Amino acid sequence: MQLPLYTMTLELVIKIFQTYLIPIFTYCAPIWTNDIRSNNNIQKLNAVFTNYIKKYLGLPKYAHNAAVHYYCGTWPLYNAIKNLAQTAATNINFPPNCIDGHQLTFANNDPLPIYDPETEMEDDFPRKRPHISRNRYFRRKQFRDIFDVNHYQNCTLERFHTKKTDECKCLYCGNALARDHKCYDS
Ligand SMILES: [Zn+2]
Ligand SMILES: [Zn+2]
Repeated sequence: MQLPLYTMTLELVIKIFQTYLIPIFTYCAPIWTNDIRSNNNIQKLNAVFTNYIKKYLGLPKYAHNAAVHYYCGTWPLYNAIKNLAQTAATNINFPPNCIDGHQLTFANNDPLPIYDPETEMEDDFPRKRPHISRNRYFRRKQFRDIFDVNHYQNCTLERFHTKKTDECKCLYCGNALARDHKCYDS
């Protein structure tokens, strides 16, 4: 039996995450997001959402995160929570002098800059948002093509790699192995 997740629209899949998981993360977020600063922790947090979306798209976990956000119109979880936390913190209004002139450490943080996934994407990623099918088979095929996930299987470089290099040549014809190169059945 197919899991219902796989026949839903992307909008619904995101809505489910927003409804059931975002509230867990936004609980006390103005405080705890203030304490996570290491990139490693931010990446772990972001992976909760990107892995969820990648599973829906049929992509492996190593698929490029920014491109996933670009095609889905989403934000990294950290940015989304920070943004919600910022709004929550600036909505706390205390009467004048009620905390003896002390300030909440998290209330005056600068907001994160607007997230722009395109700046992190390699140039050869198509800059057009595709229609995302509700059919799991088509969706998986479409996204595995866009992300070129079979690249390393058709590349002369033997080591596993997710980023194309100048040395990448097609195993079958010897030409440069671009994202849209087709001379084999993928
Ligand atoms: Zn290669
Ligand atoms: Zn070829």
